[in-house]
Amino acid sequence: MFCRRLWPLIDRGRLAHLLERERASYKDRNPRSLDAYTSSRHLFGRVPMTWMNKAAGGFPVYAAKARGARVEDIDGHVLIDFCLGDTGAMAGHSPQPVVDAVVEQVAQRGGVTTMMPTVDAAWVGAELTRRFGLPYWSFSLTATDANRWAIRLARAITGRPKILVNSYCYHGTVDETLIVVGPDGQGASRDGNVGAPTDVRTTSRVAEYNDLEGLERELAHRDVAAVLMEPALTNIGIVLPREGYLAGVRALTKTYGSLLINDETHTFSAGPGGCTRAWALAADMLTIGKAIAGGIPIGAYGLSADLADHLANRSDLDMIDVGGVGGTLAGNPLSIAAARATLEHVLTDKAFERMIALAERFTAGVQQVIDSHELPWSVSRLGARTEYRFASPAPLNGSESHDATDVVLEDYLHVYLANRGILMTPFHNMALMSPATVKEDVDRHHEVFSEAVGELVGG
Ligand code: PMP
Repeated sequence: MFCRRLWPLIDRGRLAHLLERERASYKDRNPRSLDAYTSSRHLFGRVPMTWMNKAAGGFPVYAAKARGARVEDIDGHVLIDFCLGDTGAMAGHSPQPVVDAVVEQVAQRGGVTTMMPTVDAAWVGAELTRRFGLPYWSFSLTATDANRWAIRLARAITGRPKILVNSYCYHGTVDETLIVVGPDGQGASRDGNVGAPTDVRTTSRVAEYNDLEGLERELAHRDVAAVLMEPALTNIGIVLPREGYLAGVRALTKTYGSLLINDETHTFSAGPGGCTRAWALAADMLTIGKAIAGGIPIGAYGLSADLADHLANRSDLDMIDVGGVGGTLAGNPLSIAAARATLEHVLTDKAFERMIALAERFTAGVQQVIDSHELPWSVSRLGARTEYRFASPAPLNGSESHDATDVVLEDYLHVYLANRGILMTPFHNMALMSPATVKEDVDRHHEVFSEAVGELVGG
């Protein structure tokens, strides 16, 4: 149960004043970025991709260079990067083995996109099997596409129309996932949904994370092709599973004939084989993207032997041309070479040990600040990923976590940290460790975070 009223509330006037001060300082510190932004004429929303407008300081800083756990902006500030491209750069920026593999593929072997297989792909497939268990793999360019294709296959295999997701999940720009549990407990379109012009309830069902009863109620309609979920929610803060929840999900999907697709795009932070290996999970399909090629675009989905056999025998499904699964640039030699280098040399078992230890240190630091001010906040960790949330105890589902969102407070912390050389993920309060992150980076966050909170709440 939430018990927020036991703690003193944040002084909103003080917060507004501090945010204004920090924004003014951000503007002064970043004249070149401001100029690049204000003079941008032909980009929709002024930026190459509209999400880049999610900037607590009012405009984004422009990147000049990035290496390891550092980015340098065009005003010459070097920032400790805990955002890491919102996980796309969890391997660190331009790790040397990936640089070498990319140069070799582009310049020496030659061929960025050929629509022909390369032998590296077999290695990557085998490595994904070693890490995540599923025996068959196919590649896309993004995790979004991996999810879209997995969903299509699930519908084709089961002959059922709907996809079930958790409320306040995020799985990419996938129409079926833009559903939340509404105030009446029923499925409703997510606020701001720019998706397909159809009632999302015709394609989807929704249940709260950690709610097996709600899940069973929805699955009992027996029209759900697949449950698509993150083993732990990561896109509305980190929401960890209750004891027995994931085993319950697996059992219910089997009982009601729905497939289970685990999206490990972010939860890969849990370890070398994501939550799947860390928590001994077994899904029918697994989707992933972002970090597995060290920052070069890639996505992948894995299939169980049963599903692969089923599909191999479905002559009615066009899997090799225009049937709806696949992409011209998918599985290209560059993405595959980068994935091999990343998995073989960068995001190794050893690297994860270090990254996780750093995330533990980061988490302990945040907890210490929370405790010292008796704040109604919590901090959760998933392997190398840490996130603080303005609720205590830590939320147990997406809606609770959504209710704990405080955009002004978030902006204040983000811009305060940015002004002192620390970059957090612009979406909520996530920090990710890379193999290049060091103890001093974590300690610097601790120091600045303590100051930011101290100024806000006094003491
Ligand atoms: N799955 C999850 C769990 C994600 O968090 C995201 C993106 N944040 C995606 C899929 C989609 O990734 P992309 O935008 O790279 O396609």
